[in-house]
Amino acid sequence: MALIVQKYGGTSMGSIERIREVARRVARYAKEGHRLVVVPSAMAGETNRLIGLAKELTSDPNPRELDVIASTGEQVSIGLLSIALQQLGLKARSYTGFQVRILTDDAHTKARILSIDDANIRRDLDAGHVVVVAGFQGIDESGNITTLGRGGSDTTGVALAAALKADECQIYTDVDGVYTTDPRIEPAARRLAKITFEEMLELASLGSKVLQIRSVEFAGKYKVNLRVLSSFTDVNSTDMGTLITFEEEDMEQAIISGIAFNRDEAKISVLGVPDKPGIAFAILSPIAEANIDVDMIIQNASIEGLTDFSFTVHRNEYKRAMEILQSKVKPGIGAKGIVGDDRIAKVSLVGIGMRTHAGIASKMFGALAREGVNIQMISTSEIRISVIVDQAQVDAAVQATHTAFDLDADEIEAVVYGGTGR
Ligand code: ASP
Ligand code: MG
Repeated sequence: MALIVQKYGGTSMGSIERIREVARRVARYAKEGHRLVVVPSAMAGETNRLIGLAKELTSDPNPRELDVIASTGEQVSIGLLSIALQQLGLKARSYTGFQVRILTDDAHTKARILSIDDANIRRDLDAGHVVVVAGFQGIDESGNITTLGRGGSDTTGVALAAALKADECQIYTDVDGVYTTDPRIEPAARRLAKITFEEMLELASLGSKVLQIRSVEFAGKYKVNLRVLSSFTDVNSTDMGTLITFEEEDMEQAIISGIAFNRDEAKISVLGVPDKPGIAFAILSPIAEANIDVDMIIQNASIEGLTDFSFTVHRNEYKRAMEILQSKVKPGIGAKGIVGDDRIAKVSLVGIGMRTHAGIASKMFGALAREGVNIQMISTSEIRISVIVDQAQVDAAVQATHTAFDLDADEIEAVVYGGTGR
């Protein structure tokens, strides 16, 4: 019998009927003998509604008060879910972040969890209760209510699983797992039964929005077994979604796990800069000081002492980055020109098998070439190859790569929960 943390997202909690469904699913696991801690999000749309109320008063609400407001969505959810569980004859008790004592730092609206006091939860579990804990919220050292950033209930779930040394953290959502790529772009996308934690981290940071990235980092740090599954299947379904695993041995045959893409990119090139020490620093430090995140960075080999220096930023920061370069950087380093393009996108191939297999990059580039997709920039890590392409060619690039690596669907492989722990 296992200790399982189940997190249910906003759509799973979207109505009273949906909450009853969640309660039935929890009840099924409880009847199988598992001990359960359940972490619901606010009902779908509720967090937006609450933040919207505050923004009717001012465009820039005080963050401490915003957290007081935004955290109430989850408080409603835990009470409703506990009642629904009690209606099914289970013992259930709800806790806010404050009542558990989920201690965070004081960075309102994006706080980080520092520690969790598990005494109340353990006592209730031992007494046979299902424990229902509010996602997304905590309390700082001075007793202020904090929230963990949008999508933060995932992190609450994972952090509780880590603190309680749970056998598994199940993230229930409206998709039934992690796919090889977005099925809206490539209908042949296949669901993965397993993916390694490192691959998931790459996919999450590359814009595949199944899990909040912080929750994946947290799971990696504390070795929490994470599973993504749908709350829209039959409550007795044995479909076990996608397991995010730390076992890498049997994953190597897969080579490639998925293709992520991100349409929010922009690229900037500083042309004809003298190739000498301090140039990269001179270009990027004013960008960093403006708190603009830089993703890919490429410097060309120099010709006659001059080189081109290119990098990418989020599209929302493109204008600001260009302005900074024009006003603060260009005059100082004597660059010939600054050009940019905010109509680009990034397509990334991710797979742990890249470590042990040669020829992956050339295979990807071949597929793109046959499709007539021009590659503007390339960057790689040990388990990822990313290319920048024109945004009009993203779909074609994803589809061609998906097919080239044999990711197109055959049958879904379902994994049945063993509950044996780690
Ligand atoms: N309710 C919060 C949000 O909408 C937290 C979450 O759903 O995970 O961002
Ligand atoms: Mg959510």
